[in-house]
Amino acid sequence: MPNTPQLQAVLHAKCPRCRRGNIYAGPMRLAREQKMNEYCPHCGLRFEIEPGYFYAAMYVSYAFNVAEIVTTSILTFYLSGGSESPWLYIGVIFGIVLIMSPFNLRYSRVVLLHWLSPKVKYNPELDR
Ligand SMILES: [Zn+2]
Repeated sequence: MPNTPQLQAVLHAKCPRCRRGNIYAGPMRLAREQKMNEYCPHCGLRFEIEPGYFYAAMYVSYAFNVAEIVTTSILTFYLSGGSESPWLYIGVIFGIVLIMSPFNLRYSRVVLLHWLSPKVKYNPELDR
C-alpha cells in the first residue's frame, strides 16, 4: 500500500488529505499567474475550507519573509565584508523578496493546509 510521506507531499504541493491530487493547476510561476485548483482532482477536498481561508496564509508568508530577510541580511553582511551601506542591504533584500514571492505564495498555502489546518486529516485510504 503506497503511503506518501508528508514532506514529499508538501514539497510537491499535493493535497493534504490524499497526498495525490495537485493543489495547484500548474508549475510555479509569477505570483499572480499561479492558479489553484478549487477541489482536489483525486479526492475532491475543497482546498478553501471556508470563505477567506487563505488570508491565514499571510501569517505563514510573513514568517517565510522574515526568515528570508534575516538570512539575506546575514549573508550580505558576510559576503560584502561587513558593509555598512544601508542601500546595499535594501537593494539585496528587495530583490530576494521579489524573487521569492512565487515560492512564498505557493508554499504558505501548502504549509497552511498541511500543518496548520486541524480540520484536514491525512486519509491513507485515499492515498492510492
Ligand atoms: Zn485529495
